[in-house]
Amino acid sequence: MKNIIFIAPPNGGKGTLSESLIEKYGYGHISTGDLLREEVKAGTELGKEADSLMKAGKFVPDEIILKLIEKRIQKPDCENGYILDGFPRTLVQAQKYDEMLNELGKDLGVVIYIDIDKDMALQRSISRITCPNCKRIFNKVSPEMKPKVEWICDDCGTELVQRSDDTEEVFLKRYDDFMEKTMPLVEYYKNKGVLETIKAHVSKYDTLDEAIKVLEK
Ligand code: AMP
Repeated sequence: MKNIIFIAPPNGGKGTLSESLIEKYGYGHISTGDLLREEVKAGTELGKEADSLMKAGKFVPDEIILKLIEKRIQKPDCENGYILDGFPRTLVQAQKYDEMLNELGKDLGVVIYIDIDKDMALQRSISRITCPNCKRIFNKVSPEMKPKVEWICDDCGTELVQRSDDTEEVFLKRYDDFMEKTMPLVEYYKNKGVLETIKAHVSKYDTLDEAIKVLEK
């Protein structure tokens, strides 16, 4: 199984697609956002530093992110392939990650860019709700992503929450940052010959079908 890197604007569907691919193929899942939210919840020094930056939709410093990634990709669930959901987000992160892989003797794998319309991503942002326990993602309005019982996680029964950065104001800031700092990665990975592009569809199943075609070709 090839490791996967997802590149997508905020609310482009990285998390939801990761959930579906993990269910189908058993990948290890590495969401830097989730790793950071766990640190915030546990009240660690790192979490304290990350908290205000995340609430404002700003990037957390590269050194923190790289340390989290280096530790995480060496865990047993990543041995047979893993999905990077939210990393790398800058050219520096991508270059440092290449160095890390060289040192660890691991493969880059495939990079999938999820192309999504800005308005569609914004609508998803303001209607997304998530499980703080198992991290499953739901949506208040999408018929296929609504929880069975309002505000309760289908999988673990925990009360769902709206992320503090899921507001229009923070979305717009995150979107601009994506365009400026993360979009250059599409060119970077295209030049390495590892880039695939898929379209974000209204239905998560259609997006999943496109991703499977790319992974199985
Ligand atoms: P996400 O869950 O991927 O939407 O990430 C939530 C927030 O965590 C982002 O808005 C950033 O503040 C921070 N974050 C996550 N991944 C990274 C990264 N690779 N580099 C810098 N900050 C990150």
